[in-house]
Amino acid sequence: LEKAPTSWVRSTCGYCGVGCGLYIGVKDGKPVYTKGDPKHPVNQGTLCPKGLSEHEIVNSINRYTTPMIKKNKELVSTSWDEVFKTTSQKFKEIQEKYGNTAIGVISTGQLLTEEFYSLGKFVQLGLKTNNYCGNTTLCMASAVMGYKQTFGSDGPIGAYEDFSHADVIMLIGANIADNHPILKLHITKNKKTTGKKPTIIVVDPRFSKTANMADIYVPILPRSDLALINGLCYIILEQGWENEKFILERTTGYKEFKKHIFENYKPQDVSNITGIDVKDLYELARVYAKAEKATSAWTMGVNQSSIGTDTVSAICNLALITGNIGRQGATALSITGQCNAMGTRETGFTSSLPGYRNFASSYDREEYATLVNVPLEDVPTKRGYSYPQIIDAIDRGEIKALWLVATNPLISYPDQNRLRNALKKLEFLVVQDAFKSETSLIADVVFSAATWSEKEGTYTNSERRCNYAKKAVEPLGETKSDFDIVLEFSKYFESVNEKLFPSWSEPKDAFNEWKKVSAGRLCDYSGMSYELIEELGGIQWPCNEKYPKGKARLYDEKMPCPTDDGKAKLLCLDWKPLAETSNCDFPLILNTGRTVEQWHTRTKTKTISILNDLAPEAWIEINPADAKKLEVSSGDRIDISSRRGRINNIIVKESQNIRVGTIFVPFHFNEQLINSITIADFDPKSFEPNFKQCAVQLHSF
Ligand code: SF4
Repeated sequence: LEKAPTSWVRSTCGYCGVGCGLYIGVKDGKPVYTKGDPKHPVNQGTLCPKGLSEHEIVNSINRYTTPMIKKNKELVSTSWDEVFKTTSQKFKEIQEKYGNTAIGVISTGQLLTEEFYSLGKFVQLGLKTNNYCGNTTLCMASAVMGYKQTFGSDGPIGAYEDFSHADVIMLIGANIADNHPILKLHITKNKKTTGKKPTIIVVDPRFSKTANMADIYVPILPRSDLALINGLCYIILEQGWENEKFILERTTGYKEFKKHIFENYKPQDVSNITGIDVKDLYELARVYAKAEKATSAWTMGVNQSSIGTDTVSAICNLALITGNIGRQGATALSITGQCNAMGTRETGFTSSLPGYRNFASSYDREEYATLVNVPLEDVPTKRGYSYPQIIDAIDRGEIKALWLVATNPLISYPDQNRLRNALKKLEFLVVQDAFKSETSLIADVVFSAATWSEKEGTYTNSERRCNYAKKAVEPLGETKSDFDIVLEFSKYFESVNEKLFPSWSEPKDAFNEWKKVSAGRLCDYSGMSYELIEELGGIQWPCNEKYPKGKARLYDEKMPCPTDDGKAKLLCLDWKPLAETSNCDFPLILNTGRTVEQWHTRTKTKTISILNDLAPEAWIEINPADAKKLEVSSGDRIDISSRRGRINNIIVKESQNIRVGTIFVPFHFNEQLINSITIADFDPKSFEPNFKQCAVQLHSF
């Protein structure tokens, strides 16, 4: 009873893209409890282990409490004035000497929309560098580019409620049981909604926890998903199971698409690529095509691939030829990773201008400049470097200063040796974070940020639902919200603050400008207010006069796609083999991923004992047949190497859940840094890394 909260604040979870509503219990000015919001449509009172223990992150010993500066090779506490003055002087010196674009900035889907919008505006229009990207490139960029090339714009087209109304649910490369656990709720509700249990298909080379839910499990060979989808399209078209009316009315490119599929994706060839029997391919195609309503959903297994963008579009092709778009229960939904992966996508300044405007369009640039009253010449005319291109530019000596915001590349970026060599060449590194990350320890200055529950704003989840995250307590120590950091830092650059943030003082000022900027766009927030969002339990954009309470799904019969002709594009797309296949020296294919107890690079979760006790270290999941060949068994400790490095002493877990010839290792852990051996191979359209497959060797003693 002593610890019982004395007040409750309604808010939103700050971890993943599911976007659960919750209450923060507060006592003596500290969060002491978290419980699910029973009225929130996303989670209906439930939370996963991370959400349930979220209050513990706030006063964690892993927090910074003051700004930090490096003196005599050590980070020491200092004042905000000193870090802002030092950083602004350094930025100005570098820009004078090497040009504006010698500064790179990498932001994050962890920020609130108001913070992300303000940061992007400051970086692009204030610092005038377009070398600005987000860590979302490591998780969602392929979904962005896939949606863009198929529908003419980014924006997840479906809703979680589609899981509750579909006859068939196909999860591709999506281990939701570990990574988005509350989504399972919408699948289990399905029987109540439709009166019969849906058929659940799970496509994954690894029999994940999610595969336990499957009626049909499809154990494809690593990264053969695009070939599988094209093969299913072949069979559907061959058997006449397509929805021709829908295709003719709502898509373009059908003739070329059909020719491409028939010429290149014959079932036997697809079987050879995917490892799935031809008869099983036919059965799978039949089940999907014959469903009245089929929902497909994917996440990192698809996105984190060097053909991720095209695989996303291939999934959309399959949905389009069967008419599974824009109806309740019929969709192709990208599930996002971070709490605000969507809000940061539409507010832009990374791969597009705010409101999904194009850098290259003079109309879009003019419109934005007019709306926010800035000189047209200040609006960038093209996208700068993406995240991996920024790292390469640092390596080449072109970018001299880097500002990282709530991201920790020293754990999360592939091929760590290459990255670390590049970062050594920087003249100045700023890390803005609430937590002590491995990367912050090598920074020249740290902007110590407030975290979830200490600040106000909105997060937009995977189904485009904008949720309100309310402030429950004051920021710890001298930390400041990311919004305040941007606004105050901008005052150290002559006239920038007055020009970009005139009379702004609170996140709502950014939200109001964002509403104005998004009005009339696909991602229209103009009808939203914090009060309405709270009242409705989040609002799915677009929200405007036509859709005052938002809209569950995009591109139904009344809503054309934002392409020139209003139709979705059927695209001719090709599977490509892995950049690195197994051989005698490196005979196994490594798959990396996550576990439900840990969050990303563990900056938030490593001090929460209930989570760490459940997942204290990384492990190698290996098939017993491969373990036997190596003469190792569960509990042994072995080394793992690739062409790029070696990691010592990882514990073995034998499991029938993993295919022979492949292993799985989670990426969260610094102590067993799996990204020191992953490959720097990127999707050329989205720049997303191919985290999921590289060739490795195991070493037993
Ligand atoms: Fe938070 Fe995601 Fe867990 Fe929901 S599923 S409680 S949003 S981490």
